[in-house]
Amino acid sequence: MRVGQVQMKEVYTLEDLRNWREIADKISPPIRLGVFGDPVMHSLSPQLQNAALKDAEIEMQYARFHIHPDELREAVQLARDCRFVGLNFTVPHKIAAAGLVDSVDESSKKIGAINTVRIVDGALAGFNTDGEGFGRAIRDHFAIDLRDLRVLVLGAGGAARAIAFHCASERCERLVIVNRDPKKANRLIDELRPGFIGPRVLGPVARLEAVPWEESAIRFQLANLDLVVNATPLGLQARDPSPIPARALAPHLMVFDTVYGTAKTPFVRAAEEAGARAADGRLMLMHQGAASFEIWFERPAPFTAMREALK
Ligand code: NDP
Repeated sequence: MRVGQVQMKEVYTLEDLRNWREIADKISPPIRLGVFGDPVMHSLSPQLQNAALKDAEIEMQYARFHIHPDELREAVQLARDCRFVGLNFTVPHKIAAAGLVDSVDESSKKIGAINTVRIVDGALAGFNTDGEGFGRAIRDHFAIDLRDLRVLVLGAGGAARAIAFHCASERCERLVIVNRDPKKANRLIDELRPGFIGPRVLGPVARLEAVPWEESAIRFQLANLDLVVNATPLGLQARDPSPIPARALAPHLMVFDTVYGTAKTPFVRAAEEAGARAADGRLMLMHQGAASFEIWFERPAPFTAMREALK
């Protein structure tokens, strides 16, 4: 973090936004971007975006804001009034934020959630870069495009929806959704169906389907899959089990865990034990952040600086 007359705080609050003029005057370069979350201390976005801003020689800083759900509406309005140029939203704000902006792009409408806002002349435009970040992370790590892949996604929440709709827009070969609550998985499949109309020869398995969260059902699918994605929070806690045990995984699979931490996640460890290639969510974080940067500044993101910042 850069130091002006006063060093930027680790985390700000709604109260700080209410008194922003007083706070902002003392900080240089000015804070004009930030992430709103609850909790938010774990967010690596300030580390990532401040490295990008510095490398791109943009005279702004990016800060963390601990904003409770009942404070979100006021916080978004204050950010606009305080001449912020962009925001990110993390848990639990992504769905609520979509209802607080002036416009939402088409893909975020389908997902039903946003993680990025661009503010121009007081107008708030919402976007979701999680799906794009996921696609870029897969290309970056496995050197392959989603359109060539048969994909299984674990989860049907916000991250899973962004990933699933991105897979659909990239015309992936096959998509299987597995969720603890099967009703949510089935609903998502129904929403995805229009993206999967058309002939593709896949043998005995369906091109788009929901499968129960049971080892035998998942194991049956794996022979007809290339990429397995964890889009649940399993792995955030050190004692969490791998969402799929090593014994059910196979060496031909690519495994992508949206979760990341300081150590290898249980899913990445299980994949490696099974001889499969694996990556964790840091790459997705970097690429979704890069996509946000490109929305805010309409220029390519400085990948090298962003990658270094997350090492
Ligand atoms: P949501 O709360 O919207 O969805 C959570 C999903 O996980 C639901 O489908 C839920 O199933 C499932 N789930 C929760 N707990 C368990 C469990 N113990 N066992 C099995 N399934 C479970 O969260 P998000 O989709 O927003 O985020 C999910 C994770 O994705 C986050 O924890 C984060 O780590 C990761 N993420 C990473 C990003 C990155 O850039 N790397 C970006 C965004 C998210 P059910 O419907 O049955 O409740």
